[in-house]
Amino acid sequence: MTNSSPGGSQHYAHIVVGAGIIGLSTAFKLVDLGADPSSVAVIDPAPVSGASFVAGGMLAPVAEVQYKQEPLYPLMVASKNLYDDLLQRLGEKTSLSTGHRTESTFVVGADRADARHLTELTEHQHGHGMEVQRLPLRQARKAEWGLSPQLSGVVEIPGDHQVNPRMYCAALLDALRNMGVAILGERVDSIEDGAVATDAATHTADMVYLCNGLGAGQVKGWYEGEKSPLKLRPVRGDMLRLRVPEGMEPPVGRVIRGFVEDRPVYIIPRTDGTIAVGATSREDARRGPAVDGVYTLLRDAIRIVPGIQECEFIEAITGERPGTPDDLPYLGKIGEKLVISTGYFRHGILLSALGATVGAALGMGQPVHTLEPEIDLASCAPLRHA
Ligand SMILES: Cc1cc2nc3c(=O)[nH]c(=O)nc-3n(C[C@H](O)[C@H](O)[C@H](O)COP(=O)(O)OP(=O)(O)OC[C@H]3O[C@@H](n4cnc5c(N)ncnc54)[C@H](O)[C@@H]3O)c2cc1C
Repeated sequence: MTNSSPGGSQHYAHIVVGAGIIGLSTAFKLVDLGADPSSVAVIDPAPVSGASFVAGGMLAPVAEVQYKQEPLYPLMVASKNLYDDLLQRLGEKTSLSTGHRTESTFVVGADRADARHLTELTEHQHGHGMEVQRLPLRQARKAEWGLSPQLSGVVEIPGDHQVNPRMYCAALLDALRNMGVAILGERVDSIEDGAVATDAATHTADMVYLCNGLGAGQVKGWYEGEKSPLKLRPVRGDMLRLRVPEGMEPPVGRVIRGFVEDRPVYIIPRTDGTIAVGATSREDARRGPAVDGVYTLLRDAIRIVPGIQECEFIEAITGERPGTPDDLPYLGKIGEKLVISTGYFRHGILLSALGATVGAALGMGQPVHTLEPEIDLASCAPLRHA
């Protein structure tokens, strides 16, 4: 922080708008790249209250592939490749756990049609050079005794892992505070040439980072015309949280993803003894948990891991994924003082390492870290749907 005025307005070198996983990891990466922590501010009226609070947290560049989303694959792989380094650096700044787990992921099919789907998907993944292997059910059940004996197929993905997004964001917040980054509880209304107007003050910055997920579409001032060029839409997802009762062995020890009559479901065991079951994907008007969604998730999860029914139910919660028309994020620099980093849709936890690394480098005027594989950032240009 360099200047302050009586009205509470401050000048910072870097202002990050939004304290979800994208904003928090961008701020962390700024300091990692050499920014003075006391010159960085993160502004959010309710940190970690958006999609990042609800998400599954799977770091799954392989299991997440979907036909016709090929441009997304290199982004997911490149981000996964950056994650270990980011986690290690984070561990140097906070003692809080991120819930990172590195067991392989199993993907299972419930009926014959699901097994066929799994086979086709595996061929598609192999075609893109990804590591996936078929596993006889008997062998899979030796590793995961809780899997139903009725399953029709299992594949193992060694490189798909997980963090616990709530724990990870809490660790990022703690690290930022420990380093001396300011966290301001204000809502940003507009950004214009480095001036950030909030509901409490107008701050100024040499560089502003618009990282507030779906809320980015409501922030005015930085574009010409009436409508935001960011075409963000909420894609809702219901998520359940369960607890393994004391004395009971957890029914799963790794992420189990399944297709049940063509519906996707996943079961994520956490380091804190809870289990997440998710997630629906819907664009209807129900803002809270949908009855059919909760019912179907539980039924499908129990079908592939029957022991789920012995767990305690903690919560059902709904999050809004910040979707874009082509499922790619908006990531790039606009003019001299603004970096846009939003629209991470279904993969923001995984893609946060890439978003933070690229966003912070763009804002610091540094070359973008060598990405493996190489990424054509033009595909993420923030104004491509204007
Ligand atoms: C059910 C579900 C499951 C998911 N599972 C996974 C998964 O397993 N793996 C994965 O990679 N991704 C997953 N995702 C996607 C992932 O959660 C999102 O892509 C990611 O959280 C987006 O992060 P964000 O920081 O951009 O936005 P958010 O987490 O939504 O954060 C935005 C922040 O901005 C703040 N904000 C909003 N407006 C303003 C304003 N005007 N001024 C200041 N602050 C503001 C909000 O308070 C909020 O804290 C899932 C999403 C859902 C809903």
